[in-house]
Amino acid sequence: GVWLLGGRDYRTEVKDSPNERLAFGKDPASRFPCEHVSMRLLVVEDDATIAEPLRTGLRREGFEVDLVSTGADALAAPECDLVLLDLGLPDLDGRVVCRTLRERSDTPIIVVSARGKEVDRVILFELGADDYVVKPFGFLELVARIRAVLRRTAGGPSPSASDVRIEA
Ligand code: CA
Repeated sequence: GVWLLGGRDYRTEVKDSPNERLAFGKDPASRFPCEHVSMRLLVVEDDATIAEPLRTGLRREGFEVDLVSTGADALAAPECDLVLLDLGLPDLDGRVVCRTLRERSDTPIIVVSARGKEVDRVILFELGADDYVVKPFGFLELVARIRAVLRRTAGGPSPSASDVRIEA
């Protein structure tokens, strides 16, 4: 299908760029070959009105996205590169989920908390979260935070990732 960014057909705007033309594969996610092509995110969010657009947007940004809506499913999910964890979950305390995930692995965690609920960032970091956003958050801010956290972790993409891809 046609992928729109800001209402415009992104592909028609970049078609004259040799490097960008190389970037287009069968998978729409490959439009952005420079970063995160193989980065798998686990999104833990019980509000479908947030979760579904979030998944769509993150996929457009080139991430693979697993979506779960409960703490139990989050704890049962396979390993991923980063967890986006809503603290307000229907079954378990999000803080417990966060702490449990952290005890299990070093996978980076970005916590999502609701506005109005006082979030003590010290507590968040004691839980092992790498960063946090407060609802309602801007999508671009979230993507920037995800990329920043991934860059800080060992598994993040190297600065030369785009060169490797173009030569391939
Ligand atoms: Ca929630």
